Amino acid sequence: MFLDHIIMKDNAFLEDYNTIKKNLQYKGGKIPRWYTFLKENITINNQGRLLFDLDKPIIQNPMAPRPPTPPVDGNTLHHPKRSQQWVTSWIPHLSDIVYGKLLSTNNFPNCCPVSYMEHWVHKDISASSLHTSPRSTPNILIRCQGCAQHFSYYVGDMRPKCIIQVKHKDLILLEALPKKKKEDLFPRPNVPIKDFQLLKYSHPNYRLMAFNDHLIQRGYNSTVNF
Ligand SMILES: [Zn+2]
Repeated sequence: MFLDHIIMKDNAFLEDYNTIKKNLQYKGGKIPRWYTFLKENITINNQGRLLFDLDKPIIQNPMAPRPPTPPVDGNTLHHPKRSQQWVTSWIPHLSDIVYGKLLSTNNFPNCCPVSYMEHWVHKDISASSLHTSPRSTPNILIRCQGCAQHFSYYVGDMRPKCIIQVKHKDLILLEALPKKKKEDLFPRPNVPIKDFQLLKYSHPNYRLMAFNDHLIQRGYNSTVNF
């Protein structure tokens, strides 16, 4: 658990223990000692006013759909194949997004949740398509066959060739379209139907959404308009 889980959204007060308890797996027992300790040491009055100001406000982007964070657990949660979700995340050092399928999430005690995804890449078909702008070009993903982003210490399903490690809170959910829509695609990419995914929105659309989310999460209020 992190401080931002037990501090109210305005960053000025310690959450009431009953509110914190709602997010705990084990809900029984009396108020734990760590809570009493925090209450005595980091607050200045009985209402839980914090002794310090958090220098960076914790801003979340309520607009971005996100995969739920699994409860704190000492074991890795492997997402069952049928419920694996499509996700994207802004990678600052690449100044770009990565796409992928969510394989597993670690939400270990006292750590921030980390996820692993099978890396899929955007296939640029603009040259061979009839679509006139990037925003109207279908957003097609194919499996990454291995790149510099690959996290080679992954423990789990070793079949995916490229696996990326990301902070779970930076993930945004994507919508992949059903098989029927892939079949209707014209012209169809030169890849078997089962080996590509068709996303609901365009590549520039997701890039913009992920970049905005990155800015908002880090405390910048302004959104960029293209
Ligand atoms: Zn890759």
